[in-house]
Amino acid sequence: MSILSVKDVSKTYQSGNRKLTVLDQVNFDIQSGESIAIVGPSGSGKTTLLGLCAGLDSSTTGSVVLNGNAFEQLTEDQRAAARSRDVGFIFQNFQLLPTLTALENVMVPLELKKRKDAKEKALELLDKVGLKDRVTHYPTQLSGGEQQRVSIARAFANEPKILFADEPTGNLDTETGEMIEDLIFNMNKEKGTTLILVTHDPELAKRTDRIINIKGGKIQEEVHG
Ligand code: ADP
Repeated sequence: MSILSVKDVSKTYQSGNRKLTVLDQVNFDIQSGESIAIVGPSGSGKTTLLGLCAGLDSSTTGSVVLNGNAFEQLTEDQRAAARSRDVGFIFQNFQLLPTLTALENVMVPLELKKRKDAKEKALELLDKVGLKDRVTHYPTQLSGGEQQRVSIARAFANEPKILFADEPTGNLDTETGEMIEDLIFNMNKEKGTTLILVTHDPELAKRTDRIINIKGGKIQEEVHG
């Protein structure tokens, strides 16, 4: 079953009186449980494409259907609801809330649950990413790798159907990056969560099922040998 369908999507940015077409009639389909890498030169539109697929931004033309919802037909509130139901997101710079502890950060997507249940679930997730003894730490008291592990726990809190990761290991040293990669891929395999990640690391891209290469606004699929 197709979990994400991108049809004839174009994205044009207007800056001053200049127009920049970043994506030009892009088409692809992603099946539930697949892992995909989006690669391409800097400035080629990788982050833009990820944002459109996650419903964080709107395409100029075309359609993005995530888990049966066509984003362009939804109101902003409906889009936010679809995102919090179906989508997890991991960023290069972690984006944890600085005034909340590790535990509270992971509890954010669980705010609709009873506090006791949310706490239990968040503790279970932090244990899973190896941070059982860091739950009361604030982001500034954690290393980069630990912050990224908190953000992985947070991304999985609402059991998303699809996980988006934008250069998730970009700010980490090689060893820590490999540990983060393993965590993301294990969670993809264990839960069957569809994984779409943006990376400039060819080794990381090779670990995915498919590679989508963006160049000059067009995409090209690379098939693993
Ligand atoms: P990548 O992730 O591949 O580095 P991006 O998607 O971040 O590329 O950006 C693609 C191009 O679009 C870049 O030239 C960037 O400057 C431009 N761009 C991105 N966001 C905006 C915006 N909000 N307004 C204007 N131009 C933008």
